[in-house]
Amino acid sequence: MKEILADRTTKIDSSGIRKVFALAASLKDPVNFSIGQPDFDVPEPLKEEAIKAIKAGDNKYSQTAGDAVLKKRVAEQIKNEFGWSEPSILITSGVSGGLLLAFLAIINPNDEVIIPDPYFVVYKHIINMLGGRCVFVDSYPNFELPTKKIAEAITDKTKMIILNSPCNPTGVVYSEEQIKALAGVAAKKDILVMTDEIYERFCYDGECPGIADYYEKTLVLRGFSKSYAMTGWRLGYVAANESLKNVVEEMTKIQQYTFVCAPAPFQKAAVAALDYDISDLVVGYRKKRDLLYEGLKDKFELIKPGGAFYAFIKAPGGSGCKFVEKAITNNVLIIPGDVFSEKDTHFRISYATSDAKIQEGIEILRSLV
Ligand code: PMP
Repeated sequence: MKEILADRTTKIDSSGIRKVFALAASLKDPVNFSIGQPDFDVPEPLKEEAIKAIKAGDNKYSQTAGDAVLKKRVAEQIKNEFGWSEPSILITSGVSGGLLLAFLAIINPNDEVIIPDPYFVVYKHIINMLGGRCVFVDSYPNFELPTKKIAEAITDKTKMIILNSPCNPTGVVYSEEQIKALAGVAAKKDILVMTDEIYERFCYDGECPGIADYYEKTLVLRGFSKSYAMTGWRLGYVAANESLKNVVEEMTKIQQYTFVCAPAPFQKAAVAALDYDISDLVVGYRKKRDLLYEGLKDKFELIKPGGAFYAFIKAPGGSGCKFVEKAITNNVLIIPGDVFSEKDTHFRISYATSDAKIQEGIEILRSLV
């Protein structure tokens, strides 16, 4: 019999996050610092909107590019924010959906994509699957945007630079200065920047600067999963200005033959989400960030995260994987840094859990050093 699996399946290794879950299956009431989603539930008024949409019969396909009302509202928001006159918008099935469509539309075999390391794990696997080449640019030890190294990494084959701020897994928010400098580098070589801004609302020390303010050839990917705790609703969007209109058109075409559309009733509810104020929840998350940082900073080497709900911490003993095993044996679930990096020197904590669990986790981790 012929080999059933396509060669591309060999380009993906099973997620290290899942390996942690397997290790953790026998634990009773662990401190779960591994989950990348908020610990609050979808706000009640937004749940009501979704229920209303389902009851009103909004259960069919929407247009491929998205529900007209939602698209219009997102476009207005983008116009106000970036001053783009006619933004192209595509509503996607989560940011994950947007990422896949963007890579399918843009990456040819052997194209190079520059990615600051550590990085969100999905980029690497999809790019590899498509035969593209990830060019990782080291951002250790402070995880700031390595603009100079990015400039040096650009070749004739560079197709795209990926930014993710606030960053998963480091929680670092890139400064305006760094973002502007990168915009200059990208503009000089006329290279597309894809900015994954899924954590844009989780910014604790002021505004979160975005590159679309400074560089037109930017594909903006944003989502609803984290801001409104609706990871299961599968909603996100892609926005671009005139210069990348063709990219969004091609992504829309591919969506037509793959996802077809993002979930229709939830798109209706997302219109209300755009007006929903989550600032109280963000204040709560800032407190969690402070609790974790203050609880660990004298014992561990960690950069104070400015956003998202992650901290990326140097593993005592040097190996992220070994420290993770030790932590799991002690009932704390964390993720080894090599899931998000070419290095195994750190571990990731997600502090999207109750304050009591954060406190418990801090005490256990401190006892392991
Ligand atoms: N980008 C980043 C940086 C993420 O952390 C995640 C979720 N973990 C996603 C994209 C995908 O999110 P979703 O598909 O739920 O919108």
